[in-house]
Amino acid sequence: MSRYGVEGFSDEELEYYSRQMVLREMGLNGQRRLKEKRACVVGLGGLGSIISTQIASMGIGHLRIVDRDIVEISNLQRQHLYGVDVIGLPKVEAAANRLRRLNPFIEIEPQPISLNPMTVERILEGVDVVLDGLDRMAPRYVLNRACLKLGIPYIYGAAITNVGNTSTIIPGETACLECFQGGLDDASLPTCAVVGVNPSIVNIIASIQVSEALRILLGRRPNLANILLFCDLDSMTFERISLMRAERCPACGGVSPQPPQPFEEVEEICGREGRRVFIVNPREERRLNMEKLEHVLASMGFNIYKRGELGITFTAPKGFRGSILKSGVSILEGIGDRDEALRLSHKIIDENLDSIKNKHLI
Ligand SMILES: [Zn+2]
Repeated sequence: MSRYGVEGFSDEELEYYSRQMVLREMGLNGQRRLKEKRACVVGLGGLGSIISTQIASMGIGHLRIVDRDIVEISNLQRQHLYGVDVIGLPKVEAAANRLRRLNPFIEIEPQPISLNPMTVERILEGVDVVLDGLDRMAPRYVLNRACLKLGIPYIYGAAITNVGNTSTIIPGETACLECFQGGLDDASLPTCAVVGVNPSIVNIIASIQVSEALRILLGRRPNLANILLFCDLDSMTFERISLMRAERCPACGGVSPQPPQPFEEVEEICGREGRRVFIVNPREERRLNMEKLEHVLASMGFNIYKRGELGITFTAPKGFRGSILKSGVSILEGIGDRDEALRLSHKIIDENLDSIKNKHLI
């Protein structure tokens, strides 16, 4: 058997993609083109699980997956990349392991980091398209602006209860996210934990996002440029809403200087079972040694729940649970307030930094 059956593809790869290469719009040339491309999926929750599974198995050459969360049992109803065996692992790690088994012919690059104004440009470095699997507007606005600046097509998507919407943003050409959905405050928006989410709508929106990304990667015109597709499973309606660039858009209008986007060192996210959850973001990315971190946590009296290559989840009495990612992001649940979260994160990571000979805390 020849390792490379046809121009860069092994016989096995040709068979893997055989049902797709016969599609008129794909062919061998399209498959080759896809293999040369790089995509980034930001957020590996409901949308991101489906997006990354589809785009990986279709044969994107390089897939960067970005998320700062841990797999929880309440994810499994709709986040089908994960099983009960990976609860407590960073989503990017569980996803990378699964996606590598799904398609060993592509490169998967897991990044256990928060998307914020300090990390976004590195997250987008060298990618041809970015797909939105986020669940809050604040990081979406950061992503939108960075995509405008770097000229990277951005496939926006969102889903909650039985409704969802998606649009394809081509920098300099189409309406951007802030043209049609600017100024939303996450604190005033419903969350999945409160109002729920139907897996069907998540699958539909994610699949449409992938379809749009594929069109872009294959050099075709996206169907949702300047269109917001609104889907409602209650009424089973799919509505196409025309969009226009807003002259006074603060992101792409160029009429007023962009306000600086603040870096949030501590974020409070949607709580689980009534407990407060804080995320503490490092001011610069760490590369923590998980084995040494495990010793530090054990010496502080924590119980190690799960240790992976890219993160550790640990518990303590009274319902406290924490996770530390390799990048230095801390997720602390069942803790009193922001200050306490910040103090605990610094205490754990500071001690660990000493042991890995990194003297710079901030
Ligand atoms: Zn705009």
